[in-house]
Amino acid sequence: MDILFIGTASVIPEANRDTACCIINENVMLDCGWWGSFGMQRFGLNPMSVEHLLITHCHHDHYAGLPHLLYYKGRSPQESKEKKLHVWGPAAEIAATVELSCKFLKEEQYPNVVPEIEVHPVHPGDTFNLGVLKVSTCASIHPVPGLCYRFDDPTGASAVFSGDTAYNQDLIKLSRGADVLVHEVSYGAQAPDHNPSGHSGGKEAALTAKEAGVRLLKLIHTSEARRREALASAKAIFHNASFAHEGERLLWVSRL
Ligand SMILES: [Zn+2]
Ligand SMILES: [Zn+2]
Repeated sequence: MDILFIGTASVIPEANRDTACCIINENVMLDCGWWGSFGMQRFGLNPMSVEHLLITHCHHDHYAGLPHLLYYKGRSPQESKEKKLHVWGPAAEIAATVELSCKFLKEEQYPNVVPEIEVHPVHPGDTFNLGVLKVSTCASIHPVPGLCYRFDDPTGASAVFSGDTAYNQDLIKLSRGADVLVHEVSYGAQAPDHNPSGHSGGKEAALTAKEAGVRLLKLIHTSEARRREALASAKAIFHNASFAHEGERLLWVSRL
């Protein structure tokens, strides 16, 4: 299993930090940040290698980079690699999000600016395969339809991504025994009792990691100003916790 963190910031980028984006096994992009395709190049990967884009939910910080990725794949030389892009995401919104991105690029006027696209609407609880990776899903707790994703490979290695969510029993079940849980901590130390925006802090991320029995907790999706309090709060509950940073790569075979 190979995870490259491209973006770990909150809803807007900061200096040297993009919003939510990870690359798994070099061909799966999980959320596309503001400029995920540029981030891939920054860390030595070719955006043409992305065959599958999985979107956790259609808030801007998770899909704003979609037109860039489409344009990159559309305008690059045809022979450089397989150009078709599979886009997976919440069934209620993913098709419209892709369609609006194509409209933004004025596809009707410039047909070559987007690659061939196949949209795959995903419902919470769906499972599917991306090559050797088995993907499992559950619903996030967030104001818009959203998904948490788990990836298992044939060696037994596994990783789970929370997307944006409040403390979530379904995510605990999905994360059971996983090697790595990548969890958002938008609130810093902890979520307030009244939590209409549906986010977590270090406390909720760590409780999820502890109750699911994962081995490693990687924190993402918060501003620089809140990182210290988020980490302290998480480590008080789950010791093996740290922030992911842009360009960090986790590479392992079999269970950690
Ligand atoms: Zn969100
Ligand atoms: Zn977000």
